[in-house]
Amino acid sequence: MLTASCILLTDQPCASADVSGGGLVCAVYGFDPKSAFFRGRPPAQAARTLSSWGVNAVFGGYQDPEVRKALRGHGIRIFAELGCFVGERYWRERPESRPVNDVGQRIAKVKWYAGVCPSQGWLRADIVKRARKLVSRYELDGVWLDFIRYPGHWEAPRPHLEQTCFCAACLRRFLKETGIETPEGLPVREKAHWILANKKDEWTRFKTGSIAGLVREVRRAVTAAKPGTMVGFFAVPWSRDERHGAVLEILGQDHRLLGGWADAVSPMTYHVLIARPASWISSAVSQISRDAGKPVWPVVFVGDQEHPLTAEGLKAAVEAALAPPSGGVILFSLGELERAGRLGEVAPLFETCRRRSGP
Ligand SMILES: [Zn+2]
Repeated sequence: MLTASCILLTDQPCASADVSGGGLVCAVYGFDPKSAFFRGRPPAQAARTLSSWGVNAVFGGYQDPEVRKALRGHGIRIFAELGCFVGERYWRERPESRPVNDVGQRIAKVKWYAGVCPSQGWLRADIVKRARKLVSRYELDGVWLDFIRYPGHWEAPRPHLEQTCFCAACLRRFLKETGIETPEGLPVREKAHWILANKKDEWTRFKTGSIAGLVREVRRAVTAAKPGTMVGFFAVPWSRDERHGAVLEILGQDHRLLGGWADAVSPMTYHVLIARPASWISSAVSQISRDAGKPVWPVVFVGDQEHPLTAEGLKAAVEAALAPPSGGVILFSLGELERAGRLGEVAPLFETCRRRSGP
């Protein structure tokens, strides 16, 4: 049983409460009561429709109290996504937050993605504050941290990966936390080279510890504000040894560490984006379940114009996502299905989920 005291009074991760709700989570990401499909429908009707499709959890749509009440009335749990280290606006407003790579340059944007330095104290404090505010204001069942990692646009068959972040704030924190001093007077690129050549393990531990430290802070803040509210995170679905350990060394996301502070983990098993078969999804779920030791609710990408997925292909992905030890599935996203005129697929997709999620 999760208790506030073990989180608040000790530094030790705690066992989670039974968060499964007794059955599989059949969730949709990006529920928007103001979307073209739901706009104009009374909240009770929207909730009834979702429930009739087999949806028992939504990410989004929590701002309106009437909508929340209607969703709860139909047994639908409500979650919020909280973006962490991402956003080009931070680069504009606080240029020091734009990460520095191992040749001493500020990183470039990759498509829409602009990663942000995880050592910015003001940003870390703001994330914790936003988490507290979300759970205090909206009676949520849980908050899911997104972009909880060092920079890396991983959603591609051959992703561009680079070591970050060698900004002043990161180097200061690295020194403070490890006592390791980089040789004086070197330019940033040579400091980076020195660290990676001589203190790579310490550097990786510093990065993974920094990311896990924020999850711990959010966990404490959420539990203090609303005991019993879940904290989860969206995980990069790579194993520890894949791509030369990039999930740890480049992204700083250690699922073993993070599992200590989160109640559930949602690997972003976007198989079509990274050109893998649907069957890969279930192996990724098993791997992350072993590492995190917490319930796993994988996220299935439903396809888009650039990465089309047939109804059969999507069904196969959802079935793979539901294979044990999965705790459910999250469709990403409801908005995309609506735009593509595919909302009619949700009920058949959730058929297995609905059957196994109990009454
Ligand atoms: Zn930095």
